[in-house]
Amino acid sequence: MNKDYKILGDRKNEYLAYEGNEIITWCGGCGNFGIQKALERALVLEGIKSQDVLFCYDIGCNGNGSDKIASDSGYTFHGLHGRVISAAAGAALANPQMTVIAEGGDGGTMSEGINHLTHSVRSNYPMMFILHNNENFGLTTGQASACTRSGNPMNGSPDGVLMNPINCCDFVLGLEPTFVARSFSADVNHMTDMFRAGLNHNGFAFVEVLQTCPTYNRATPQEWYMDRVQYLEKSEKTIEGARKKAKDMEDKINLGIFYQEKDSVNFLERLAGRNGIKTNPIDEVKRHDIKRFLGQFE
Ligand code: SF4
Repeated sequence: MNKDYKILGDRKNEYLAYEGNEIITWCGGCGNFGIQKALERALVLEGIKSQDVLFCYDIGCNGNGSDKIASDSGYTFHGLHGRVISAAAGAALANPQMTVIAEGGDGGTMSEGINHLTHSVRSNYPMMFILHNNENFGLTTGQASACTRSGNPMNGSPDGVLMNPINCCDFVLGLEPTFVARSFSADVNHMTDMFRAGLNHNGFAFVEVLQTCPTYNRATPQEWYMDRVQYLEKSEKTIEGARKKAKDMEDKINLGIFYQEKDSVNFLERLAGRNGIKTNPIDEVKRHDIKRFLGQFE
């Protein structure tokens, strides 16, 4: 029996509801396979039905997951490069009853999308964001990203990258977040735990996954990570403590929840204008006849 099904017991059909029929285009050995499985498992174990989830994908190798997941029973959005968080945040605010999950790579997220990440963390939008950090632009054939390690030769920079990489969890921790975790794409059980914790968080849950990319990131293959990753037993009480734990990405790489504000208040709940309002924005939208607007395009 497939190991995933065994773990999920009689919930196999719920799990299969997330499985699409399209042929996946990821390379063999790509860490995206494990991330996808862990996310599906986390959703099933949390009892979240596929019709109650919106999956938002950025452009990049991670975005090809939109072909695979929830083909006809869920909702997916495949956005512009680096912009997925803002689209997902809008959806999360419009319909708080929906579980909104955004996924993006280090290429899009930590370069042109870094402003969206920054202000979504500050705003504490009610959603989970999964950062697929494979330390390069995989979809465009292995150029250096803001997370590529200094000195690594990449396509477009064959003599080695000159800049130091951004440490993503440390960066986010500097923004006074309410949830920051890190996992590793070869450990499906640990990713499942991190995703479940993120799904239960009331606010913006940032989960970085160190993702193997055997095709273009040969400097830090799976074995390299396996020699270095170690697991935190508990989260830190302070952001300063969490930053210390997140800092090292060379010798001992910590995985786990670095920091979580348990009594986090999300963006919608902070809006004074909504005090006392029992309905959600999605309930309040009146139906409009948009024919006359559509007529402009005929
Ligand atoms: Fe995965 Fe890398 Fe291939 Fe993209 S290029 S599918 S990240 S292995």
